[in-house]
Order: sequence, then structure tokens, then C-alpha cells
Amino acid sequence: MIINNLKLEGKSSEDIANLIYEELKKIDTTKNNVLITIPENYKEVSNHLDKFNFEGFVKTSILEDKDDKNITIDILGKENFVIAIDGPSASGKSTVAKEIAKILDISYLDTGAMYRAFTYYLLKENISLTEEEIKKVIGNINIDIEKDSVILNGEDISKKIRGDEVTKNVSKVSAISIVREVLVDSQRNISKGKSIVLDGRDIGTVVFPNAKYKFFITATAEERAMRRFKDEKSSLNKSYEEILEDLKARDVLDSNREISPLRQAEDAHLIDSTEMTLREVVEKIINIIRGIDV
Ligand code: C5P
Repeated sequence: MIINNLKLEGKSSEDIANLIYEELKKIDTTKNNVLITIPENYKEVSNHLDKFNFEGFVKTSILEDKDDKNITIDILGKENFVIAIDGPSASGKSTVAKEIAKILDISYLDTGAMYRAFTYYLLKENISLTEEEIKKVIGNINIDIEKDSVILNGEDISKKIRGDEVTKNVSKVSAISIVREVLVDSQRNISKGKSIVLDGRDIGTVVFPNAKYKFFITATAEERAMRRFKDEKSSLNKSYEEILEDLKARDVLDSNREISPLRQAEDAHLIDSTEMTLREVVEKIINIIRGIDV
């Protein structure tokens, strides 16, 4: 449903919010999820909308797309859905996935963080990275993901899992079948009974092959390495070249492993973000979900 620009011209933000409210009253929001998309030039409207106590799920999102001169109300249905976002390391998928979850007000799961937490435990306990040795300790590993925190056996290890040692070894650990079995099971359990965005390598192919929406976000290795270099310049003592080498090595391992290799699901939307900002990627995904950019 589109609230047309013509009707909005000359109206105050408050009047427009009232107009939207009148439209929403016609929709049974106990049976439908509703997404209101507001272009940047009408962003004040969303503050006025906050005053209304909508029933059911109603979410407003401000899109920067300057060509979008309409305020739209999209009816997304009420049933739970999964959004699968896969792609290579440092393609920006975690940042994008988090933002999508925020816009749609649904859950988010960083599956890479789970493989990293597992790897952290094995390195800390000096366990050799073989199927046989991992099997012996697998029952001792309890990983909880709470909002942005990763908790391993009660300890917050959110920062530690981003360290160099974990990053170097995680692809080796994630190629081991028992590790994948346990974590895929856990990802499916966490996702039960809710709408959720998951990002990883095998979400659209293995974890949720029937996900309602699937995306594969990629970018050239050089662009991904440059983004990581800029992001982590202050914390990592690494040159751009070293980061590029590490990324390429991880790409090779993740793409060529026997079980659940990194690969685009046939029905996934491919987004090459090399020349896009992350915000543009987010808007593209939201538009595909709204059904206006497929
Ligand atoms: O996404 P992130 O770079 O944190 O992932 C770390 C590693 O975890 C990847 O390089 C990959 O080896 C592994 N992984 C995986 N399957 C997933 C998510 C991550 O194998 N669904």
C-alpha cells in the first residue's frame, strides 16, 4: 500500500502521521505484520508515529533512497520467517544482518560467532583440532548467544573470539563434521518459533534450505580486505597485504571443505557489494523483502 506523495505535499509531519494512523486502522495488525517505510525527507514523521500505540507488530524504517518519494505500508504476513544471509569473510554480512533484524524487529544469530567460540575453547584447552579429540570434549562446551554477547560456559568471550589465533584456526575447526552437526542443530533450535535473520556460510544451503528469503553477499577479496583493514586499523597490527592473504586463505578453506562448503544457494539473491555501501545493501534487501526490487 502506498500513501502517495501528492496527498503528503504541504502537510505537517504530524498530519502525515495521523494519515498513516488512519490507514493502519483499516489493517488487522493482529493478523498481519506491517512495515512502514519512510523516505529520508519525511523522517520527522516517524517521531510522530511513535506516539501511537499500535496493536500487533508495526515497524517503521527510514530509507535513504532519494528517489523513493512515497511513504509505503507493506503487509508482510504474520507467520514466522527465516532470512538466510551467506557469503565469504568480511563481506559485511554481519553488519547488514544486524541492521535488517533491527528494521524488521526480529531476532539475529551470528553463526560465525558460534564456530569462533568453539575454536576459542579448543585453543584455550590445548585440544588438538581433530575429530577424535573434539568428540571427547564436545559435551563440556556450552555456547550461549545473548544479544551481542557470546558466552562460553558462563564466560563472556565476545571480544576474545575476534582475536588472531581464533581467526586463523576457525576454518579448520568448522570443517570438522561433529562440530557442524552440533552447531547446526543448535542454530535450528535457537531459531524455533520466531522470525530470525542468520548469517553464515551454509544457512541457505544446509541449515535452512527452505528459508523464505535468501541472500548471498559478496565482494572482491581486495575490497573485503580493505574494509577490514580500515575497520581494524587501530586494533590489529596487520598490513593490508597480510589481511588480504588471511582472507584468501579462509575463502579457500571455507569454499573447498567437504561438508557444507561456502556456496550460493540456487534460489538466493546475489548481491555484489564491491561498489555499494552497507546501507545500500540493507536497502536492497529490505526492498526485496517488500517485493519491489526482485
Ligand atoms: O562469519 P565469520 O567470519 O565470523 O565466521 C568464522 C568462520 O566460521 C568462517 O571462516 C567459517 O569457517 C566458519 N563458519 C561456517 N559456517 C557458518 C558460519 C561460519 O563454517 N555458518
